[in-house]
Amino acid sequence: MSDFHVTTFVNGKWRQNCYLISNAQREVLIVDPGSDPEAISELITELGVRPVAILNTHAHYDHIGAISGLMQKYQIPFFLHADDAKLLKQANLYKILFETKNSISIPPFGEDFAKGPEDLNVAGFPVRVIHTPGHTAGGVCLLIGSNLFSGDTLMPGGPGRTDLPGGDKVKLKDSLQKLRELPEDYLVYAGHGKPFMLQEFWKKNDEQ
Ligand SMILES: [Zn+2]
Ligand SMILES: [Zn+2]
Repeated sequence: MSDFHVTTFVNGKWRQNCYLISNAQREVLIVDPGSDPEAISELITELGVRPVAILNTHAHYDHIGAISGLMQKYQIPFFLHADDAKLLKQANLYKILFETKNSISIPPFGEDFAKGPEDLNVAGFPVRVIHTPGHTAGGVCLLIGSNLFSGDTLMPGGPGRTDLPGGDKVKLKDSLQKLRELPEDYLVYAGHGKPFMLQEFWKKNDEQ
């Protein structure tokens, strides 16, 4: 069944998107929590859903600040690709550099997307994990039903930046090639900004 409902919650200085993906049983996956665990918990209560796991597309500090709080509150696992474990550990260095001195509580590296398989069953949710390095080394796009959670790999304005910690231009190009194989009518939910069709993205990308 690919009957999922996506709720978007925008939070933090960089207006990063946290996505709550729920199924008919009112269970919910949390993708890229962002920085505000209290507000996300409130939303979860409001929606009347039960969190089952946290999945991160990458470990830039603006997308990971709420993980520790949510893990503790709901006692749920946290998934990330091992190639971003170092970024996760160093998140506070970058936060101080780019934002403020208030440090975030870094969660321990938990479940590893790199271990495979590509098609995971996360607490009953079918999740395809597509490793898409380039924005960061361990960046992944997550396909749940026909929804692609792209993190900062695909952004509304084009491919993600490669000049931030973990970035690699050549790798990003290969990753985009990999994503070309997906049906163009998939909806993309990016790390920042509004959702868009994959088709729209390629069109814009090819014109540039
Ligand atoms: Zn990022
Ligand atoms: Zn971001």
